[in-house]
Amino acid sequence: MKKQKGFNYGAYFGLIGLLLVACIYFSLNPLPTYNPFSQKQYYEALENNNIVSAHIEPNKIAPTGKVTMILAPDNRQVVLYVTDVRVTEEQLVSHGVYPEVMEVESENWFLTSILPTLVIAIVIVFLFVMSQNRAAASGGAGRLADFGKSRAKLDKGEKKITFKDVAGLHEEKEDLEEIVEFLKNPQKFTDVGARIPKGVLLEGAPGTGKTLLAKAIAGEANVPFFSISGSDFVEMYVGVGASRVRDLFAEATKQAPCIVFIDEIDAVARKRGTGLGGGHDEREQTLNQLLVEMDGFGENAGIIVMAATNRMDILDPAILRPGRFDRRIAVDRPDVGGREDILRVHAKNKPLAEDVKLDEIAQTTAGFTGADLENLLNESAIIAAKSERKFIQDSDIKKALIKVGIGAEKKSRIISDKEKKITAYHEAGHAILYHVLEDVGPVYTVSIIPTGRGAAGYTMPLPERDDMFMTKGRMLHEIMVALGGRIAEEIIFDDITTGASSDIKKATNVAKQMVTRYGMSKNIGVVSYDDEDEVFIGNELGHVKSHSERVSGEIDQEVKEIIDDCYEKAKAIIKKHEDVLHRCAELLLEKERIGQTEFEALFVQN
Ligand code: ADP
Ligand code: MG
Ligand code: ZN
Repeated sequence: MKKQKGFNYGAYFGLIGLLLVACIYFSLNPLPTYNPFSQKQYYEALENNNIVSAHIEPNKIAPTGKVTMILAPDNRQVVLYVTDVRVTEEQLVSHGVYPEVMEVESENWFLTSILPTLVIAIVIVFLFVMSQNRAAASGGAGRLADFGKSRAKLDKGEKKITFKDVAGLHEEKEDLEEIVEFLKNPQKFTDVGARIPKGVLLEGAPGTGKTLLAKAIAGEANVPFFSISGSDFVEMYVGVGASRVRDLFAEATKQAPCIVFIDEIDAVARKRGTGLGGGHDEREQTLNQLLVEMDGFGENAGIIVMAATNRMDILDPAILRPGRFDRRIAVDRPDVGGREDILRVHAKNKPLAEDVKLDEIAQTTAGFTGADLENLLNESAIIAAKSERKFIQDSDIKKALIKVGIGAEKKSRIISDKEKKITAYHEAGHAILYHVLEDVGPVYTVSIIPTGRGAAGYTMPLPERDDMFMTKGRMLHEIMVALGGRIAEEIIFDDITTGASSDIKKATNVAKQMVTRYGMSKNIGVVSYDDEDEVFIGNELGHVKSHSERVSGEIDQEVKEIIDDCYEKAKAIIKKHEDVLHRCAELLLEKERIGQTEFEALFVQN
């Protein structure tokens, strides 16, 4: 890396080290003390034959030295420092004084002068290495010369990654295509005054390929790729994080067009004011510096800052403002097709037996991320190698699947066909109601890919246009949608699972709010029995109630009526669209995730 300004901790260390060496050197070799006996007095004493005796003590590095003399007539002792002990000795002898000359001990010179210096040098080097190791342990590639500077790693394209290496993720790649274009040819965009986002935030579960995507963009555009991990920033000395950010951007500006990739940005960009203990201030400074830098460079300066996180929920809203990370791309867990593609990419250098069917493996691995699949194939290869085979066969993959599937936290990853089918109908039930009911929806995505947070699937409506008012009609529709999953299960399987518990909780909460907070029921009337946020937490018992047992009973009755009513209406709708329910579930089982257009098409084909 090139020289840069900013804090240079190496220089500080060096200075402190030098001072230490000097202190110790001078304590071992004290400076001459003030001596009133001058050269002139010495010559006078010599001429007058006043010197009774002399004692010469040469310095370690001859010929300088100390001469101690006794003078007549009062036996006064004086000390004289001389530049050449040999000349002094001759002078004394020529005047009849035979001085006592001390021997110079050469080993002594090493022990008292070189050794301490050496010890101190070693201590300093040791301190250096220690601090470097601490830095390196958190993921950076620190070197002595770069101490305190940005430890961003510059990928020099040892193994260039391009979009070809990223399987699946078609929409994500499409979204990022224009950024590649911009990096390749910024002129084209600036000429027409187009604004290109400065910051792109990739969000998704660990192992879904965020880092891979960022690298692929740099590879596609053939520009430098600076990467640093948020956790690298949070370390050691206060002020280092901020100075690293500064250096990182200084370097990036020089190399533009380029990509700056901040992995695990949640480590620095957590909501401010939520930190506990020591690292807090440091993190805040680092985040502030990052924001300053992002605001600092021009709109089309040729630097694209990409960041990755799997904790969107804890990010400081400040980083999401326009001109910062205003482009967000969700990197989803792959669907069946995506999983098959990923398996093909990673099977490239692994000889497979005839009986290995990657499409079937893709079928059984719903919820696996790209990293999980890569790991699965790797485990299979290890199992094959252990059996002294030169190729992977189906049984190796089955064994590996058990091994990775039963690994501690991934217990629930491998889902049976039956479970998958139930989930498909459940989600289809929600989706149909979103579509049919006017005050909710429309459906944006329906998915039966496990989320990794415990949900077997999800149905997502388009983001709300207007959240100001919840009308009574809309609240009723929300309740119906929430019940839709369980209703579909009941219709198709004539049995119900425990999978709908959070749906039921949601429906109940909405109904309760209607009755106690918004005065939307006919029997209770326009009265608020809301214990200010406490009623709906689900542990009513622990709170002092503002209403009597009688009212309480009426509320429960009212809530039950609303839910029962919604249940019947919702069931009628789903029954009416039972053909869609089947088609939707089948399509979900085939593709695992369907979008708005595909879903809406299900209502037309008749
Ligand atoms: P993240 O940054 O989202 O945690 P990575 O990009 O580090 O995930 O992915 C980890 C590994 O998983 C990659 O090195 C690659 O081997 C594999 N992988 C993940 N997603 C894909 C994909 N879409 N195509 C090919 N390999 C993938
Ligand atoms: Mg990563
Ligand atoms: Zn549900």
